[in-house]
Amino acid sequence: MTKSRLVVLGGGESGVGTALLGKAKGYDVFVSDKGKIKEKYKAVLINNEIDWEDENHTVSKILNADVVMKSPGIPDKVDLVKQIRKAGITVVSEIEFASKYTDATIVGITGSNGKTTTATLTHYLLKDELNVGLAGNIGDSFAKQVLEDDFENYVLEISSFQLDDIIDFKPHIAVLTNITPDHLDRYDYKFENYIESKFRIAMNQTKVDYLIYDADDEVIVNHLKNNPVQSILLPFSLEKTIENGAYLDKENIKITINNNQIIMPTSNLTLEGKHNVKNAMAASTVAHLLKIRKQTIRESLESFQGVEHRLEQVLKINKVQYINDSKATNVNATYYALESMGAPTVWIVGGVDKGNNYQELFSFVNEKVKAIICLGVDNEKLLSTFGNMVDVIVETQFMSEAVKIAYKLAETGDNVLLSPACASFDLFENYEDRGRQFKDAVRNL
Ligand code: ADP
Repeated sequence: MTKSRLVVLGGGESGVGTALLGKAKGYDVFVSDKGKIKEKYKAVLINNEIDWEDENHTVSKILNADVVMKSPGIPDKVDLVKQIRKAGITVVSEIEFASKYTDATIVGITGSNGKTTTATLTHYLLKDELNVGLAGNIGDSFAKQVLEDDFENYVLEISSFQLDDIIDFKPHIAVLTNITPDHLDRYDYKFENYIESKFRIAMNQTKVDYLIYDADDEVIVNHLKNNPVQSILLPFSLEKTIENGAYLDKENIKITINNNQIIMPTSNLTLEGKHNVKNAMAASTVAHLLKIRKQTIRESLESFQGVEHRLEQVLKINKVQYINDSKATNVNATYYALESMGAPTVWIVGGVDKGNNYQELFSFVNEKVKAIICLGVDNEKLLSTFGNMVDVIVETQFMSEAVKIAYKLAETGDNVLLSPACASFDLFENYEDRGRQFKDAVRNL
């Protein structure tokens, strides 16, 4: 019998993980990447005798596939992908492919913002009492962990691009943190398409599965009203009382599932900001569902230190707090960062604007921002939008200079916040690079 052929497009973490899993499951595997494959991944492919190419796609070695795993970064409009689909070849994402090979309980976390934070926190709450892996955009690929670790539970951070190419994938517990416009270039500039993509997280769920979602998010609530799902709904809210699910009762988070309630004071949360109360609600609801002891949940919420580049407290210098929120690549994330500022703030913002509408930030800027430092190649829009709102607005194209200016402008008790609301690719390799350069500059002050 001839082997089934698996072609993997994209030789990054998820691609190489899928290739390894595919090979172990008896596929004839070929990895093809239009860009350059990193040396560490090439070494893995070579050591495992997996056929590969980079800086090229050899169409004849691809169109003979039985199944194609497409990395999330490759858009559908690429000519090769069109040809693959036209040839009737099944296209799947890594989570679709890998989930076929595990019986583990899957917690799938998606949303426009808060995925990494909520997934990391959820894993942190579960890990003391359950055998659980953390995957998605974080650390080792899901496929590799299915092959090598075989966990009984997985917490997966799942992007809309991963969801676009699922067929049967079904998390037993799905979390939808929020939906705000993002990545619209991949969705024909139609917000509705992006919303539908996010809701694919619940597409295969049945009435024994759970959907945990933000009941204060009108986009989610409206979509659910018009497109009911089969899943058991467990909403969370900062604004209203929730009987089955989680809500904020004064200073306490209350989570009720089948009359079993857990109460946690928000004052003990190490994470700051309202958005993180939401993330904590979502993560704790998962933990409560999976029967983690209440004491463990409370203690873990108190000791969780957050994730790098997300409202990360870097240093205090001359009583000025420096905060790295480089992962804020859209306006909504920056909204929550500014909201959580409890002191006058010098705000470093800018980069590649994704069609931003800054209006929702105006009241916070008026109220809390004393100076703005625009850090981008093209700062025109920021200068014209915020020019009249603050006394000081300057621009630079160097992180070290931005931090030095901030140092001069900030006074005792102030914050210096890097929360760009923009992508980083004009001046930096990625948001991690931007965040690290910020931290280095702060440490060099
Ligand atoms: P994602 O993985 O979805 O990009 P992250 O957890 O990496 O989300 O956070 C991205 C940015 O969004 C950070 O600036 C963070 O402070 C902010 N953020 C985190 N949680 C939320 C939330 N629930 N709503 C809005 N913004 C959030």
